[in-house]
Amino acid sequence: MEQHLLEEMYASLGISAQVRAFAAETEEQLKERFAAIDRTAEYNQLKVIRAMQENRVSDIHFAATTGYGYNDLGRETLESVYASAFGCESALVRPQITCGTHALHIALSGNLRPGDELLSPVGKPYDTLEEVIGIRESTGSLKEYGVSYRQVDLLPDGSFDYEGIRKALNEKTRLVTIQRSKGYATRPTLSVARIGELIAFIKSIRPDVICMVDNCYGEFVEPTEPSQAGADMIVGSLIKNPGGGLAPIGGYIAGKKECVDRAACRLTAPGLAREVGATLGINQSLFQGFFLAPVVTAGALKGAIFAANLYERLGYPVFPSGDADRHDIIQAITFGTPQGVISFCKGIQAAAPVDSFVTPEPWDMPGYDSQVIMAAGAFVQGSSIELSADGPIKPPYAVYFQGGLTWNHARLGILKSLQQLVDDGVVKL
Ligand SMILES: *Cc1c(COP(=O)(O)O)cnc(C)c1O
Repeated sequence: MEQHLLEEMYASLGISAQVRAFAAETEEQLKERFAAIDRTAEYNQLKVIRAMQENRVSDIHFAATTGYGYNDLGRETLESVYASAFGCESALVRPQITCGTHALHIALSGNLRPGDELLSPVGKPYDTLEEVIGIRESTGSLKEYGVSYRQVDLLPDGSFDYEGIRKALNEKTRLVTIQRSKGYATRPTLSVARIGELIAFIKSIRPDVICMVDNCYGEFVEPTEPSQAGADMIVGSLIKNPGGGLAPIGGYIAGKKECVDRAACRLTAPGLAREVGATLGINQSLFQGFFLAPVVTAGALKGAIFAANLYERLGYPVFPSGDADRHDIIQAITFGTPQGVISFCKGIQAAAPVDSFVTPEPWDMPGYDSQVIMAAGAFVQGSSIELSADGPIKPPYAVYFQGGLTWNHARLGILKSLQQLVDDGVVKL
């Protein structure tokens, strides 16, 4: 195809020649990194296909069940596919798991008993888990059920506080929760290799303790998952990476059979466990989304790296930095002004396939102590494997950016964000 056709298409979408040129220069420097991402995606794609072949996936598995959903062959096969791909004994993959927080809650409450202690050796967990655990008072928290909580922060240089962890492990410690992604904190995301080292250390002291990894945003970023590095359970959301953008709802827990089974008793009821749970016809989307997930995740990863490098060149602090190794798909960019955050989000919204015509505005979102602006034009509501951005309107005025079902869309979104910043007088090229 001739280059001018592409240029004209970008121009028709409101991207100026200057922004296009700046983006092209940035992309030019990223060829090798993108090639490495493509190789990981290739490996993970083959891994998923092999898992589907081993489990003899067939169109009979796409049939709908209703009511109790006994013997839902599609559901059982999908769970085997997840287990095979993630190198686990067992998996629970269900549309009845409403989101990542719910999946984590089931995994925790299914495996902890009154009097047990939960330990986070990697600092404060994701916001929504504060109420699950009872760090913030909340009805139905683990704390109300007599489960205590202990936390060991990372050392200032981001390394594990091994001495602190050794001291924190005690006869009550039953489960250790390790969050792979930084979420919205400013610590580095943990690689699978580092998670493996941490688990090996913990198991050397207390071999019987259950090690759970919050795997949200991490799936398929590397060739292996934490379940292949010693984790007893990995937990995530299907409207992030493993749903591949097609899963309309759902969450998963994969790992040791006894741990997954205990979580299943909590999801449904003791005695029923994994035997019930109709899938209402969405199995095909869950299979197909998992099939696409390695390539979708690669596109999102390229978008994050591209944004980091583009905004770093413009002098904004970005986290992770442009040249950092990646272990999840989240990118933070600090604009330092409310207008920067607002313009960026407007640009992302304007690039969306859905709701491109609406203008995001800061609003008082429940549970936050400042106004928040969010940009999302998604096929699946709230899906953060789709291109999305959000930022609290408070210092340091940072936006968090993630997703993109295709690299081409992520690229357009980032160009639109820059164009908006230029148009609003925040950035001069
Ligand atoms: C998204 C996420 C969760 C769960 O969030 P939900 O919005 O409930 O799906 C938990 N931990 C991390 C690190 C996450 O990124």
